[in-house]
Amino acid sequence: MAEKQDVAVLGATGSVGQRYIQLLEGHPNFQLSEVVGSERSAGKSYNEAADWRLSDAPPTRVSNMILKHPEEPVHSPIVFCSLPGGVARETELKLASEGHYVFSNARDNRMDDDVPLMIPEVNSDHSKAIQVQQKNRGFAKGFVVTNPNCSTIHLVLALKPIWDAFGIEQCMVTTMQAVSGAGYPGVPSLDMIDNVVPYIGDEEEKMEIETRKLLGSFNGNAFQYADIQMSAQCNRVPVRHGHLETVNVKLRKQAGPEEVVEALRSFRGRPQELGLPSAPEAPIIVRDQPDRPQPALDRDAANGMASVVGRVRECPIFGIKFVVLGHNTIRGAAGASILNAEMLMADGYMG
Ligand code: NAP
Repeated sequence: MAEKQDVAVLGATGSVGQRYIQLLEGHPNFQLSEVVGSERSAGKSYNEAADWRLSDAPPTRVSNMILKHPEEPVHSPIVFCSLPGGVARETELKLASEGHYVFSNARDNRMDDDVPLMIPEVNSDHSKAIQVQQKNRGFAKGFVVTNPNCSTIHLVLALKPIWDAFGIEQCMVTTMQAVSGAGYPGVPSLDMIDNVVPYIGDEEEKMEIETRKLLGSFNGNAFQYADIQMSAQCNRVPVRHGHLETVNVKLRKQAGPEEVVEALRSFRGRPQELGLPSAPEAPIIVRDQPDRPQPALDRDAANGMASVVGRVRECPIFGIKFVVLGHNTIRGAAGASILNAEMLMADGYMG
């Protein structure tokens, strides 16, 4: 068996950082070797600095690791980044310039013209932009690859088979997003209990534009954004984990709910064909029950790596409507970025 590659996690103490640590434990290709925190936690043991919020305990080996300062050099070839938006940009580019393979959850570099925004089942061929990125920026071998925002990823996984089979002219999405999507401690409890907050800063804009980049193509030089009209409304709801989204689509080619369900159920991507370690057997699970999916019941489907669709039916205005749900810190963040790394390793991008 091939040797495991060393990996570092930046923002290791946060919500997404904790998920990375949980998901990397026992990974067949990657071994967690470095954890990096902010100035606040640098020099402390992981156990001391991290307010662990997952149901199992952190692995003992990781509990005893000392958190690096954000300015300290990183040695691992692979870097998973869960730094806050606004903080990540320069750090990620510097690491890539030093030869690291950087997989990021942060928004900062996602929309750059030479940075792949990737969901391996949807657009693994966008990795070709890495060559352009390396040329543009003078990176000898490193790169930055990003995964989408936690609500966009589940929307686009559900849209992709519909897009391929029938085309989509318009898409309207309304989200009900979990509190853990805002990190920890996130939104104050007094704002969340007995309440819904109908605003998540920049989220609607991100959903609208990221969807167009993901469903678009890369022509060898530049990304061509998909020709789809998008409208998103995003709400924060008092749920711990799991983003629920109601979606209306206007198709280019006429199709009924049964055909849409068939396209969703039979959808498989390259991670499934290649049997990548974190790939769910099917990226989309379709539930038939009229009251599913629900965050409490469905967010852990396929270990949190699948998007769960239900209520596929006719819409009198758009044609088709459905509900999609997915885990925000697993397939919506850490799991997505680990799958991106598995994909690029399989495609020979990492030495
Ligand atoms: P979080 O819980 O607030 O964690 C942020 C992490 O970054 C902590 O480890 C923190 O370290 C570290 N950090 C903060 N400021 C820093 C600085 N100036 N320099 C270096 N490290 C710093 O946030 P999160 O929810 O994990 O989100 C992390 C990133 O993933 C964000 O870009 C977010 O938008 C994205 N994302 C989150 C989700 C989600 O569902 N939560 C989903 C998709 C994408 P200390 O603990 O030491 O302060």
